Amino acid sequence: MKTSIDIAIIGAGPQALTLVMHLLQKKKTMKKRFMVFDPSGRWMHQWHHQFGGFQISHLRSPSAHHPHPNPQALRTFGEHRRNEFFPPYDLPGTQLFQDFCEDLIQNWQLQNTVYPARVLSLTPVQRKFQLHLSTGETFTARRVVLAIGAGKPIIPDWAKQIQWRDRLCHSSQIDLRKLNLRGERILIVGGGLTSGHLALSATKQGATVILMARRNFQEKLFDADPGWLGPKYLKGFWAETDWYQRFRLLETARNGGSMTPSVMTQLRQQQHQGKVILSPQCEVEQAVWQENHWDVYCNNSQLLNVDRIWLGTGHQTNVEEHPLLSLIRERYPLQVINGLPVLDSHLRWRGCELFMMGAYAGLQVGPVARNLAGARMASDLIVPALTKSSVALK
Ligand SMILES: Cc1cc2nc3c(=O)[nH]c(=O)nc-3n(C[C@H](O)[C@H](O)[C@H](O)COP(=O)(O)OP(=O)(O)OC[C@H]3O[C@@H](n4cnc5c(N)ncnc54)[C@H](O)[C@@H]3O)c2cc1C
Repeated sequence: MKTSIDIAIIGAGPQALTLVMHLLQKKKTMKKRFMVFDPSGRWMHQWHHQFGGFQISHLRSPSAHHPHPNPQALRTFGEHRRNEFFPPYDLPGTQLFQDFCEDLIQNWQLQNTVYPARVLSLTPVQRKFQLHLSTGETFTARRVVLAIGAGKPIIPDWAKQIQWRDRLCHSSQIDLRKLNLRGERILIVGGGLTSGHLALSATKQGATVILMARRNFQEKLFDADPGWLGPKYLKGFWAETDWYQRFRLLETARNGGSMTPSVMTQLRQQQHQGKVILSPQCEVEQAVWQENHWDVYCNNSQLLNVDRIWLGTGHQTNVEEHPLLSLIRERYPLQVINGLPVLDSHLRWRGCELFMMGAYAGLQVGPVARNLAGARMASDLIVPALTKSSVALK
């Protein structure tokens, strides 16, 4: 096998699949020039794991958002499956979206393009990169695209101080298909959609859930206003030259976690039936394991007894803490604003041919960077730099 490649794409999630689709649409011959690395050896493994594991019926994003360059492609694919589009904006069902992505992968013969390995380190060598893999192999790539997801789980301080066991876990570790929760009391910490989905699925299995958030529960159709998909808000965002101010715009637009109105309505219904307790403006101070349950002490003097604690506390996106980037930062220092890199207009790390997608491209792509819509925007910026020599780094 060739161990010297042109483009290494690290991660095989929706961001990477979107990039590959856009790349091949632009230039079919690019297929011979890239390799994708992901420990699962499959496309979209993490996505399917989270949708299956949380038992989510449909996407939050409308049907125009998906990896194919033609926004209509999913709607056309699902023409005869109209009952799998959910109101209010034709939100695609989980299975429909999965089948659509599988169809793209088959049609473009991408099944065997994911190499089953984790990239453990990235070393700049002259103007190239050495990738050291979990398999013990080393590859050399001229260009690298990082599409590695949102970063590491955020663990609150109180949870860092106690001994972990399977009855305390971050949402990214949960697979409801493997649990039997009948009769259990579960504390879910965090006010985002992930927590909402977990709460509803757990009650369906017969559990009672306490859903706790630092602030009031926010109800929003999308995690960022659709104005962020186009010039309405992005024009002002891109015109902002103070990077800290841009970061603030990003934070304000996302405004922490939120639930969709549909999930919030279902939670209130479950609340009326006594299966969900909503606990806004409340924080855990300490949790102590007592042989068969947790005693949880909260900042409003409440003491809760629960069987499990799940953390829906999100992920931290910080290039300064990502081990894959430590040698890159040493060799090519660049400005970092609260964990986010200041990339060039092609989402390229300044000074080298390393491109970043997803949440890491937030300062350039805006608040939807981590979503499917952001993947398309990022691909539009990266593809010209990968295909045209005029935009290659000089
Ligand atoms: C419950 C839930 C529902 C969501 N619903 C929507 C929705 O409806 N619409 C929407 O637009 N967004 C949604 N999102 C956001 C969603 O996470 C992103 O759209 C999408 O999964 C991000 O894609 P990604 O490719 O960046 O990351 P991932 O899907 O996490 O893929 C990254 C891949 O990179 C791999 N990887 C990481 N490090 C390495 C390494 N060192 N070497 C090799 N491989 C590596 C991982 O194994 C993983 O397979 C949702 C998120 C959650 C949690």
